[in-house]
Amino acid sequence: MASKAIVLGSGFSGLSSAAYLAKHGFKVDILEQCSTSGGRARRMESHGFTFDMGPSWYWMPEIFEKFFLNFGYQTSDFYKLKRLDPSYRMFFAKDNYIDIPSKPKELYQLFESIEKGSSKKLKKFLADAHRKYAFVMKNAVYKPGFSALEYLDLRLLTGLFYTKSVRSLSSYVRSLFKEPRLMHLLEFPVLFLGASKDIPALYTLMNYADLKLGTWYPQGGMYKIVEAMLEICRKLDVEITYNVKVDQLDILKNKVIAAHSGHRNFYADYFVSSADYQYTDRQMLPAKFSNYSEKYWDSRVLAPSALTFFIGVNKKLPKLLHHNLFFEADTDYYAEEIYKKPVWPESPAMYVSVSSKSDPSTAPEGSENLVVLIPVAPNLEDHGRVREYYFDMLIGKLESYTGTSIRENIVYHRSYAHSDFIKDYNSYKGNAFGLANTLKQSGIFKPKIKNKNLPNLFYTGQFTVPGPGVPFTIISGEIVAQQVFKASGGYKN
Ligand SMILES: Cc1cc2nc3c(=O)[nH]c(=O)nc-3n(C[C@H](O)[C@H](O)[C@H](O)COP(=O)(O)OP(=O)(O)OC[C@H]3O[C@@H](n4cnc5c(N)ncnc54)[C@H](O)[C@@H]3O)c2cc1C
Repeated sequence: MASKAIVLGSGFSGLSSAAYLAKHGFKVDILEQCSTSGGRARRMESHGFTFDMGPSWYWMPEIFEKFFLNFGYQTSDFYKLKRLDPSYRMFFAKDNYIDIPSKPKELYQLFESIEKGSSKKLKKFLADAHRKYAFVMKNAVYKPGFSALEYLDLRLLTGLFYTKSVRSLSSYVRSLFKEPRLMHLLEFPVLFLGASKDIPALYTLMNYADLKLGTWYPQGGMYKIVEAMLEICRKLDVEITYNVKVDQLDILKNKVIAAHSGHRNFYADYFVSSADYQYTDRQMLPAKFSNYSEKYWDSRVLAPSALTFFIGVNKKLPKLLHHNLFFEADTDYYAEEIYKKPVWPESPAMYVSVSSKSDPSTAPEGSENLVVLIPVAPNLEDHGRVREYYFDMLIGKLESYTGTSIRENIVYHRSYAHSDFIKDYNSYKGNAFGLANTLKQSGIFKPKIKNKNLPNLFYTGQFTVPGPGVPFTIISGEIVAQQVFKASGGYKN
């Protein structure tokens, strides 16, 4: 008889691990506390508008392709991908913006027009970023992160030091480029991973992902990826039960025997939790079985949380593209407000996504669907007055930057912040993006995917290897499924 595995949660890592486990021959059930799948990437519809609630940047398309290929499909079997050109627009002040072209020649021209001599430096910078990307994809991203030995590939180490990967990304970028707009452009891909001063230059691999591999859009929205993964799970007979919040893992003789929810018990041989790691480790388990102490968790540096507004506007906004970034803040001061002295920011950087620009199906005719997001410190109080204050500030900013009135055309809006992340996903301190990707929290220093006391309990998702982001959480599901398979003695039907 097939071994049974229960997966907690059906975000990207949960769906990925469930699909791989089923492929390995396990009978898989998913328990999901929400009424739909997707986790932080759920979809919301209201007043004729459709909003992706979380991710909107589709980067590293080959990782998605690899996932689908592993199940005998291609991405195109599920959705149509479109490469955006320009990739995005960056605003610095009213009527001061640059569009980031997808074609290399135009990108080099743009750099040269902003800072003389910078196109040559960019070529070198991207060649170096490409080497890092290739090394990391081949030698690090698919590792379970149990021991440093996994990463002791001589080529990897030589590559890392050769490319000065351990210095800070920010100091590396600033040693090459002086014009603030170029610095913003090259530091933006790690905006959500932690403070660029604490992020190692290894992560310039994200610049390669951004500027070379490109920004894509799955027609119909990011939720199409979730639907595709659900389809694969269905074909593999994975069963999903919604509206089940697991509150406890029951233990007998040093093994988890059941996931407990209210008055119901769900029994299995193996358990994989994709819920926020701290919640699984500290809330679902008696303390003596946890991998980490409360003190450990409190000492972690979290990536930012987010205050997001989903806004329906009954007019077109020609000054905006699909992806828009607004920088005016002193980024060092802003980073302090997120990481060092956590407070609500004075002048936050803002991101605005308008998928109706590429996909008319996401808004009524003549309308636009705006997702306005500011990265903020985790663990802040997000009561109604704070949200109203920022809503007012951000709409004002948007009106002034685009020179268009917007306020009176808003027909729908909803805010989403820390307390919503906690209510919907049991998010630790209301985080949006998991742990900051500092050197001390990367690779073997990430929370481990295996429980050290309970041999049949595993963790997946953005808190563990390889880290946050849609492609990486999909990989996390694959890594954990391999470990469960291994622990089961390699059982196959
Ligand atoms: C606002 C925002 C924007 C983002 N933008 C991007 C982007 O543009 N590109 C990108 O690549 N990444 C982006 N990310 C990051 C990416 O979305 C996440 O890294 C990824 O979705 C996390 O997936 P996960 O499976 O680890 O966790 P989750 O998505 O949180 O899934 C966990 C699941 O577990 C369920 N669960 C929790 N507790 C329980 C319980 N007790 N019982 C049962 N079920 C439970 C939850 O309901 C949820 O469905 C963004 C994230 C956010 C929040």
